[in-house]
Amino acid sequence: MTYATPAQEAAPSTETKPASSLFINGRWEPAASGAMREIRNPADGELVATVSEAGREDAERAIAAARAAFDSGAWSSVPAPERGAFLLKVAAGLRERREKFARAESLDTGKRMVESRIDMDDIAACFEYFGRLAGQQAGRVVDAGDAAVVSRIVYEPVGVCGLITPWNYPLLQAAWKIAPALAAGCTFVLKPSELTPSTSILAMQLLQDLGLPDGVANLVTGAGAQAGAPLSEHPDVDLVSFTGGLETGKRIAASAAATVKKVALELGGKNPNVVFADADFDAAVDNALNGAFVHSGQVCSAGARLVVEESIAERFVDELVRRAKDVRIGGPFDEDAETGPLISAAHRDKVDAYVQRGIQEGARLRTGGAAPSGEKYDAGFYYQPTILDRVSRGMSVVTDEAFGPVVTVETFRTEDEAVATANDTIYGLAGAVWTQDAGKAQRVASRLRHGTIWINDYHPYLPQAEWGGFGQSGVGRELGPTGLAEYQEAKHIYQNTSPQVTGWFADHSKE
Ligand code: NAD
Repeated sequence: MTYATPAQEAAPSTETKPASSLFINGRWEPAASGAMREIRNPADGELVATVSEAGREDAERAIAAARAAFDSGAWSSVPAPERGAFLLKVAAGLRERREKFARAESLDTGKRMVESRIDMDDIAACFEYFGRLAGQQAGRVVDAGDAAVVSRIVYEPVGVCGLITPWNYPLLQAAWKIAPALAAGCTFVLKPSELTPSTSILAMQLLQDLGLPDGVANLVTGAGAQAGAPLSEHPDVDLVSFTGGLETGKRIAASAAATVKKVALELGGKNPNVVFADADFDAAVDNALNGAFVHSGQVCSAGARLVVEESIAERFVDELVRRAKDVRIGGPFDEDAETGPLISAAHRDKVDAYVQRGIQEGARLRTGGAAPSGEKYDAGFYYQPTILDRVSRGMSVVTDEAFGPVVTVETFRTEDEAVATANDTIYGLAGAVWTQDAGKAQRVASRLRHGTIWINDYHPYLPQAEWGGFGQSGVGRELGPTGLAEYQEAKHIYQNTSPQVTGWFADHSKE
């Protein structure tokens, strides 16, 4: 192994102590401006951490470090199987520190500990997948049709990557980028959501402890416009990979165009959950509940549009409403809670505004539509699971991503109508089909214009299976072999072992 020895700087703590949380060229640094930001638990408003607030200058320093590290070959020249072995060590380190990481994730996001633990297991599995895949990047030989020619394709790292992530699955979304970037031999600057930086800080600490060379991994914590924008603008960044909202994604793609960067976008969704009358009723209701309300609907693939066959719609929605009223809401350490708060007061206001506008436009509120009442909810940003039926296409609560615990109900009579309704969105991230007719399930799945289709299930994903969106849900894919290819350039090396004079242009001096 040729990794550098671990740096000696004291690593920051993320619980309440102020942290010099910028990790640049192997050192923990404060922001040049000295600015700090408080991170608060959305479940109760308690102070979780105080971290450095990076500005442009800090982001540019981080980019310079990533550029120098890439150009030195310190990581890209490590043989791919050894890079893979490093990722397996990261996975093992994460599994050892699972409780610490899960706690940090729950404090930042307010999500239940049980969910954060699952996230940490998924993150370790992601590092393991790309760790194993890294050793298999052999390139390929191409038949040039000429025995004198050796022609091969090699896969090289794309270079310096700007990685920008959201707050709903902070370290999971970062892992989907960091693991393939490192597997490919890239260097990176990570800019997590300003609301949820703690697990990204812990992850950088882990990479440092495991001896990743200085400058390969860099972290800037802070707001998007200041700390994030340079990652899409700077000419020294070769690729920007972004997960977040549609409008931010458009801005990033536009600014990346100026330097013709590679761009990967994982954006929002307005995902249809299509239920046919012949579905397993109880399983479909239960999964409609999960699909819409896990993590209070703050999931890009949330089943926010229930599209149900008219003949069972009344019974189905009655049962869903009964179950939704029963959902137990609480903070991350509340053992009884089944779902938690929204990320912020502003986000709760946005979700509520979609619901109220829908009601004004004629939707019927079946349950929810407000914060839960009770003293234990006062300091947090909770919102009740909400179901609206009698909606119509064109209502913003049906077309826009509310990104909260809100599901709308549409009905259909025929298979064609089900498909047309499910595809009637600018997005195309995920969707589900519920039916016991295997032929119908496959037919409908093949007609849905979404990146992931679940049949008789909702939400599972696999690190070995591509994830990403059709339409305005994004560009490119994460996970699976394509998730690694995003961080690689294919280079064609063509060698003529028996060079000849071509005779294309005559040598006129010999005439
Ligand atoms: P957001 O777009 O507000 O922010 C995402 C990140 O971009 C944050 O780190 C933010 O600081 C940064 N940012 C903001 N403006 C920027 C700019 N001008 N330049 C560079 N960076 C900038 O999104 P969010 O509210 O944090 O996350 C929720 C969104 O993420 C939802 O739309 C959700 O669907 C989407 N999401 C998608 C997936 C997926 O796999 N497709 C997964 C998770 C979340």
